[in-house]
Amino acid sequence: MELMIFPWQKTDNPVVKNSDGGRSAWSEMALDAINEGVMITDMSGVIQFINPAAITMLNLVSASDVEGLDYNLFFKIESKDGQPFSGNENKFANSMVMGQPLENFQCYLVAQKVDKRTPIAISVAVMDSGRGNRIVTFRNIAKELEEEGAQAEFISTASHEMRTPVASIEGYLSLALNPQTATIDDRAKKYLEQAHEASKHLGHLFQDLLDVTKFDDGRIKAHFMPVDLVETVKRISDTFAVQASNKNLKYQFGSVNSELVNARSVQPIVYGYIDMNFMQEIMGNLLENAIKYTPEGGSIYVNVLGDGDRALINVTDTGVGISADDLQHIFQKFYRADNSQTREVGGTGLGLYLVKQRVETMNGRVWAESSFGEGSTFYVSLPRLTPDEYSKRLIDFQNQQAAEASKEQQMMAARPQPTPQPQQMLQPQQMPAPQPQPAPQATPISQPIQTNSINNNGGPNE
Ligand code: ADP
Repeated sequence: MELMIFPWQKTDNPVVKNSDGGRSAWSEMALDAINEGVMITDMSGVIQFINPAAITMLNLVSASDVEGLDYNLFFKIESKDGQPFSGNENKFANSMVMGQPLENFQCYLVAQKVDKRTPIAISVAVMDSGRGNRIVTFRNIAKELEEEGAQAEFISTASHEMRTPVASIEGYLSLALNPQTATIDDRAKKYLEQAHEASKHLGHLFQDLLDVTKFDDGRIKAHFMPVDLVETVKRISDTFAVQASNKNLKYQFGSVNSELVNARSVQPIVYGYIDMNFMQEIMGNLLENAIKYTPEGGSIYVNVLGDGDRALINVTDTGVGISADDLQHIFQKFYRADNSQTREVGGTGLGLYLVKQRVETMNGRVWAESSFGEGSTFYVSLPRLTPDEYSKRLIDFQNQQAAEASKEQQMMAARPQPTPQPQQMLQPQQMPAPQPQPAPQATPISQPIQTNSINNNGGPNE
């Protein structure tokens, strides 16, 4: 077999020299044959080598057209909706510039001179050698995306279809357990209570699955409104006080430092621009977990602080904690830590994934810190509004609400009125779905914004 010399083996790049001629030939055969695109650049992004699959995907004529050129000149990527990535979003460009490895960054590759976009997953490996060559591999993931889409559609349809009969079962069980609508003995009551709990759990699971598919295919959009975050988070969190006390857990909103709890002046005013339903789900999930994973006698603390242009919410518990290994994965879909502390606690592993999706849709970040066996703190960081921004957005929001209300009234007036029917008893399957709680009226601004430095126990900075 003829011995080939790779471009990077030429004397102008002395770092990667292969003294084993046979291996080089095999390597070249492999690089020629694989479907994955491979491109090697030097540390400044100048192409040293590109394989045939990459040439085809980019619609180039030959390797010699691009070797020696900056990859940015023809390697164009964009997001699913055809937009160029902005600064931090472009993980590929950042990895190339910083010389940091990257794994499976999903984006669309735009071919040269033809109207063709290929969905790809890009990985970057950085060579240890002093030259820091970047080895870029990218593969066409069109088929994977298609399969994922079909899978998501199945899950979405199945959970939607199953949620309806489950809601009906839950409704009938509620009727059976209600002394005003049914008479049952104590033994039957015990069984029905368990069935009711299980049906509620199933209902949650289907709802979570449905939400996951909606987030994954971008069907869920945030409806932003300006709020006083301290008031909002406190109002939501306080609704979990009973659940906490039923498990003999101490619940406290405000600073953990007891000396400061009653000093109202220490609580800064923190305005945010959020989706109220998302916030309810996020806090609900974090607090339900805190209650679930904290043994009796423990404590749960919630607080909101402001630091410059960020708001920081923390949900802290003194529960079972999360090991360092699990901590890296808990925000992934279906991930559940499997140890003696968590095995007996029911769950789906979808809650934190949805928390992350909702927080990120509101332009925020979520992360956790934990000591295994001692407790955990979940942090949610969100953009903060200044009092001026808050007032402005409040006026815009109120105008928008008023415009929508008047449009609705006009539509109602234009609709033919139905003849009134005698009231019928609602069957469980006809029961109206629970409506989201009304958003509280944001309070007018009376005080200037106060900034408190965030005590996030070493949490990552923005
Ligand atoms: P689950 O339905 O299993 O609770 P989540 O996505 O909400 O799913 O959480 C994922 C995993 O993270 C949980 O299974 C649990 O192991 C861990 N976890 C979440 N919150 C806490 C907490 N406050 N304390 C200890 N472990 C937690």
